[in-house]
Amino acid sequence: QFHMIKYEDLRWSESLGQGSFTRIFKGSKIDIRDGERHVTDVLLKELDANHKNCWESFFEAASLMSQISHKHLLLVYGISVHRSKNVMVQEFIKCGALDLFLKREGSVSVSWKLDVAKQLASALNFLEEKNITHGNICAKNLLLAREGDASQGSSPFIKLSDPESIHAHWEWLRKVMIPWVAPEVLEAPERLELECDKWSFGATLWELFNGGQAPLQGLDLERKLQFYETYKQLPSSEWTELADLISQCMNYQPAFRPSCRSIIRQLNSLITSDYVILHAAEPLPD
Ligand code: ATP
Ligand code: MG
Repeated sequence: QFHMIKYEDLRWSESLGQGSFTRIFKGSKIDIRDGERHVTDVLLKELDANHKNCWESFFEAASLMSQISHKHLLLVYGISVHRSKNVMVQEFIKCGALDLFLKREGSVSVSWKLDVAKQLASALNFLEEKNITHGNICAKNLLLAREGDASQGSSPFIKLSDPESIHAHWEWLRKVMIPWVAPEVLEAPERLELECDKWSFGATLWELFNGGQAPLQGLDLERKLQFYETYKQLPSSEWTELADLISQCMNYQPAFRPSCRSIIRQLNSLITSDYVILHAAEPLPD
């Protein structure tokens, strides 16, 4: 179930580009509460006309996101239907997507990245407890509600958006999502389960620590498929504890991937080793 929003209550402004199935606009939503007019900035995601047959999963995704609430999950206000238009109305996040931010921003401190990773892990832990599979975790779907000061390390604040389900129908899109999509899902989409999000978390962690660069960027589809067929791993980070966590998450056997609790514990100990590194680099006080 989800909230229906009257089409007349929406205002459309500039286009923010295109998703795989959607056209994305900035806009606002008008509510009358207690006789007063309230205007809220929103993100309008219109289902592409060529993908009308996806509307059911589109609504499912909207419905899922509007039933659960967590500080690191993007708010979905509801759905608006007008003639043949299907529109998802979401919380608007000013600073945009994490991958673009990382590409734009030259220097991002380790503690800033670790904050992002921990926030994502806490959202995943919440979903895991509710037994909900997100299925579409990647830096593009992490929105920056607050940038913080990336070079100084003051805290960012992220929100996870866009759970899967639309994509479940589209073989080609699953392939585009290599290496974020867990290998077992390519074989059989019905194997999209909690463990798949751990794999995607690993790939997203890699992205985060590689300047927002898409992992396996530049490889054609055939090479990407080979990556899975030959049980490859992403190039590992010099930071061995981080590399180890990523490879645990991207284990080809779903059952061996770590629980969220274990991921969080390991991220916390990464912070400690970060401090150790920082302190080791500082001269000792007299
Ligand atoms: P997918 O379902 O594959 O995630 P999508 O329709 O969500 O596709 P994206 O490519 O994820 O499309 O998003 C396109 C761009 O729109 C992002 O790069 C981001 O800049 C912007 N965007 C998406 N959601 C929001 C939001 N809630 N607030 C502000 N900007 C957003
Ligand atoms: Mg998205």
